Amino acid sequence: MARAHNFQILQGSLEPVDILAIGPHPDDIEIGAGGSLLLWSRSGYRIGLVDLTRGELGTKGDGETRIKESIEAAIRLEATFRANLCLPDGGVSDSPDNRLMLVEVLRGACPDWVLCNLEEARHPDHREGARLVQSAFFLSRLARYCTEIPPHSPGKLLYYLIHEQVPPTFLVDISPVFEDKFRMMGAYESQFHNPRLPEGYRHTGLSDYLRNVRSLGESWGAQGGVAAAEAFIAASPVVVTDISQWVGRDHK
Ligand SMILES: [Zn+2]
Repeated sequence: MARAHNFQILQGSLEPVDILAIGPHPDDIEIGAGGSLLLWSRSGYRIGLVDLTRGELGTKGDGETRIKESIEAAIRLEATFRANLCLPDGGVSDSPDNRLMLVEVLRGACPDWVLCNLEEARHPDHREGARLVQSAFFLSRLARYCTEIPPHSPGKLLYYLIHEQVPPTFLVDISPVFEDKFRMMGAYESQFHNPRLPEGYRHTGLSDYLRNVRSLGESWGAQGGVAAAEAFIAASPVVVTDISQWVGRDHK
């Protein structure tokens, strides 16, 4: 099976990271997991970012602008690299060629955790994108799949929530970096700060998308007893090996 090599490395270089976050369009990763990624990169974990498309079909901004903005966001996240698979916006598919391309990235990045959006979504790119990630996540470990690159078996697949109101597996307390998340997301000027929005444009009932992201973060936080949180669903059971974080704190 020939190597694909159609993806672009926009920032940094494709090298091993601890956590690889994948999103259908530039800014999806940041909306769903930007606070957690800020926390983790500042704690010393290496972060890689992969967008499946350039978002050229978006109502706001064009593909070239959104690429530039995604590079700026990667810098603010202190990511090791940001790649873009350059799949057609609106035409993401879980195809053999796309699987091969994403497996190349996975094997180059060798992550322990892979993050992507939830499959249950209205946007077809979000549905197909999540399926593509699931397929690549599995195929990456198979030694006889594309033998030119050594296999890599990622440890855990986690879905971040964008605006889906479904019960999460766990919450990440992003209170310490909540405001920083919005400063980081300010890199996407065309998406969140452009005053020249198309007339009558609305997204999920709010013209100010950042306000929506903020209220969701506070809502998840309220459910977890913290100021702000991001929600994740684990694709496989989370194994507890050390209960000391939750049990016996008051007796030590
Ligand atoms: Zn999207």
